[in-house]
Amino acid sequence: MTTDHGTQAQVIVRLDGVHKEYGETKALDGVSLEIRAGEAVAVMGPSGCGKSTLLNMVAGLDRPTAGTVEVRGQGLGKLNETGLALFRRHHVGMIFQFFNLIDDLPALDNVAMAAQLTGTSARQARRRALELLDELGVAERKDMYPAVLSGGERQRVAVARALMNRPALLLADEPTGALDSRSGEQVMDLLIDLNQIGQTLLMVTHDPHLATRCASRLVELADGKVARESSLERTA
Ligand code: ADP
Repeated sequence: MTTDHGTQAQVIVRLDGVHKEYGETKALDGVSLEIRAGEAVAVMGPSGCGKSTLLNMVAGLDRPTAGTVEVRGQGLGKLNETGLALFRRHHVGMIFQFFNLIDDLPALDNVAMAAQLTGTSARQARRRALELLDELGVAERKDMYPAVLSGGERQRVAVARALMNRPALLLADEPTGALDSRSGEQVMDLLIDLNQIGQTLLMVTHDPHLATRCASRLVELADGKVARESSLERTA
């Protein structure tokens, strides 16, 4: 990769020749990819092309059959299961299509728990959780349980949880897939705002509108390979 007089942003994610096989199925078939600090990368492609597998590799939720994954220079292959869990807690935030909130906990505790898992005191965690809920426009929902929140509110709570530990990387798997179009647009606005203040994003989506609105770069996968990469002019 060329350097722009040495001023290019730090590489946050580096995949090198990543293969993943499930039995006979080649989910990833030699994927190499770099993501730099401040980028917003959308991964698209037909169902079954390997998008979720790719995200799981970067999150350290699954391991490649061959090849290497580095996040902030840390080779994930060198970490044992405990190391991977710690890596995820400290460096990666994840949001999902169906929010993955804990039903038995109010919004504030869903968010605060992410920091308590890293050893932050309950008081500090609740304070930061409240700040984030406030920034994301759902502070008045702090004592409500996920079941009584709208889809858009749930995703905001999930974004707050993902940001608790100031992750180097925010991963999103179809983050607007379960939302009506208005809530979807609001979550997209949120992702754009976060990226504009420097948050590096990697999202997986079927939705070209999400990709063109929120991403600065598009990576198209086909049959487990990178078929095309392109820069995007955001349409926001
Ligand atoms: P996408 O997210 O693009 O729909 P996936 O990454 O989920 O694609 O899947 C890629 C391929 O790997 C598919 O053929 C899928 O069936 C297969 N696959 C994914 N996860 C598993 C698994 N845990 N066990 C077996 N096959 C899997």
